[in-house]
Amino acid sequence: MTITTPSTSRTTEDKLADLRTRLLEISDLGYAGAVLGWDQATYMPTGGAPARGRQKAMLSRLAHERATDPELGRLLDDVQPFAQSLPPDDDTACLVRVARRNFERAIKVPAEFVARRSTFSSVAYNAWTRARPADDFAAMRPHLERAVDFSREYAQFFAPFEHITDPLIDGADEGMTTVSVRALFDDLRGELVPIAKAICDQPMADDTCLRGPFPEALQLEFSMRAITSIGYDLARGRLDKTHHPFCTKFSDGDVRITTRVREDDFGEALFSSLHEAGHALYEQGVAGDLVGTPLGHGASAGVHESQSRLWENIVGRSRGFWEHFYPSVQRAFPAQLDAVPLDTFYRAINKVQRSLIRTDADEVTYNLHVMLRFGLETELLEGRLAVKDLPDAWRARMLSDIGVAPADDKDGCLQDVHWYGGWIGGGFQGYTIGNILAAQFHAAAVAASPAIPQQIARGEFAPLHDWLRTHIYRHGAKFKPAELVERVTGSAMRIGPYVTYLRAKYGGLYRLPTA
Ligand code: ZN
Repeated sequence: MTITTPSTSRTTEDKLADLRTRLLEISDLGYAGAVLGWDQATYMPTGGAPARGRQKAMLSRLAHERATDPELGRLLDDVQPFAQSLPPDDDTACLVRVARRNFERAIKVPAEFVARRSTFSSVAYNAWTRARPADDFAAMRPHLERAVDFSREYAQFFAPFEHITDPLIDGADEGMTTVSVRALFDDLRGELVPIAKAICDQPMADDTCLRGPFPEALQLEFSMRAITSIGYDLARGRLDKTHHPFCTKFSDGDVRITTRVREDDFGEALFSSLHEAGHALYEQGVAGDLVGTPLGHGASAGVHESQSRLWENIVGRSRGFWEHFYPSVQRAFPAQLDAVPLDTFYRAINKVQRSLIRTDADEVTYNLHVMLRFGLETELLEGRLAVKDLPDAWRARMLSDIGVAPADDKDGCLQDVHWYGGWIGGGFQGYTIGNILAAQFHAAAVAASPAIPQQIARGEFAPLHDWLRTHIYRHGAKFKPAELVERVTGSAMRIGPYVTYLRAKYGGLYRLPTA
């Protein structure tokens, strides 16, 4: 006997409306968790930490329950034929495709694991905030060993796979694998190492003009002017101070960024603000119809990072940007910069050097830091490197790859939060993919609209911003990263434009070996 349930008598339209409501609830639980996280990183007193960890875990548990609700799966099954009858780039067709992918990924991961990992993540993160300043790797070792176990356990939910890191990479940069990332990195490394070596063998740029002191309030004022000039909408965002700068989204009307200020370093606040504003322009630019659905955010970690790096480096560290802004910066800081010519300032903000800290690294050596981390985390997950041997392995790799090694673990393997937030693997490759794509997208924009560099030198950022919004931002996560890159640039991801960009820019600042 067949029982007619209300769900089978509903129209496809009803089912799509139901689907959207459910997806909005899942999305809102995520945004609510983001509000708690933003508050924790900005204004929460330290006494709030234990309850906040519990509250965030509760929200992620609720979100996971909804994301794995069998009724959601039935709805996705029911609307699938209709979605497949639509053109592949139709919003609804993309929505159903991405919602299904998310559902299928989510049901592989038990709720018990999600809760256990969320609790572990808070514990490990809190331990790291104490262990790093104390340079205490021994205190982090058990947490790191557990994090390796957690990541391996997580990867197993997606078995079979070719490589243990593949599910973690695919979660952040869909379509990429350990093998494809390695091949990309090997190619880029072959280009970068001789450029970095040639530059580092020459006299270092003098960046004493950036040491200030530059009063905090004036720096924040200038950062605000720079980010609003490039198009960050303050009616739908705000800038606050945190220890680690980030961008977070609560809705299409509220995309916030944070920065940090050092009075003895002009670059810190400005470039971290531009970086996070790049992420925020992307999120503010997603079409309103997509927000509150699984399409309502950037396409992948790498594509996201392409926008932060594009605005921070390709625009923010360009000569044209400073032809426009430098006179007003000199007026704001006359005692510090009046006697410093633009060329000296430009060389200073583009200083290349062998350095210990990834987040402070210049454009040329930055990717070598990323490759080091990708290599080590892969070895940890493969079991070829034991956690106890990580500090020594780190020092050895730093010395061979970058030419300098840290004296302690604080500026060595304890420096990045990524491994101490509960995950090992999948968190680093996006940075270098971002640099590669930033140059590829920028080259495509300039090919379509050759006046962009001159416009930037006049302080006109809207043409570049509009091009990026039209071709990338408004689509949100509608397209897979590889598909988006192909649509926007007419080819697959490739290192050519990035290497050309680095050679042209740094060839103007240093003598480089010929290609
Ligand atoms: Zn970023």
